[in-house]
Amino acid sequence: MKIICIGRNYADHIREFDNGDPSAEPIFFLKPDTALLRNNAAFYLPSFSREVHYETELVVRITKVGKCVAERFAHRYYDEVGLGIDFTARDLQREAMAAGLPWEKAKGFDHSAALSPVFIPLEDIGGDVQKLTFEMSLNSETRQRGDTSMMIFPVDRVISYVSQFMTLRMGDLIYTGTPAGVGPVHSGDNLKASLMGRELLNFEIK
Ligand code: MG
Repeated sequence: MKIICIGRNYADHIREFDNGDPSAEPIFFLKPDTALLRNNAAFYLPSFSREVHYETELVVRITKVGKCVAERFAHRYYDEVGLGIDFTARDLQREAMAAGLPWEKAKGFDHSAALSPVFIPLEDIGGDVQKLTFEMSLNSETRQRGDTSMMIFPVDRVISYVSQFMTLRMGDLIYTGTPAGVGPVHSGDNLKASLMGRELLNFEIK
C-alpha cells in the first residue's frame, strides 16, 4: 500500500505557501505505510522538528489495480472518500527545499499521515468528487475550509497522471492537496475535521 500526496493543488494555498505559479502538471510525492495514523489516535509531536504543520486533505482510496488510466475512466477506480492530515515538518521541508534535496524526512515520518477511520461512499454525498466541502478546526476554531471544485488538478486527472508512472493498487490512498489556512500544531491542541458536515477526524496533539 502506498500513500500518494498531491502538492500545490489549491491556488489559495500556493499563495500562502510560496506564491509561485501553479505547475503545469500535478506534483506528487509518497509517504510510506508507516506514516499512517489511524483511528483518531493522538499525534505525538516528533522531537526532530520545531514546526509541525497540519494540512487537511480529501483522501481518495483506490479500489482496483490501475495503470495508465484514462482520465475519463478514472472515476471507476474509487468510490469512497475520507479526510486526512498531511503533517509536515515545515522547518525540515524548508531546509530540504533550499538545498534542493528530497522532502522525505519532512513529509514521510511516522504518523505523518492521519487518516479518518470512516470513509463515506461518494454516492451518499452527491456522487461528484469535485463537489465536496470540508472543514478543519483547531481547538474548535475553524482554520481550513476546502471546496474540491477549487482543485487545480481534479481527482480523475491526478489518477490518470500518477498511473502513467506507477501502478495504482487496491488500498492505495491519494491525499489530494490542501487549501489555505495551514499552520502549526502544539501539544494540547485538539484537531477536528468534517466532510460535508460529517465529523471524521477528532484527535489530540501531544
Ligand atoms: Mg499536503
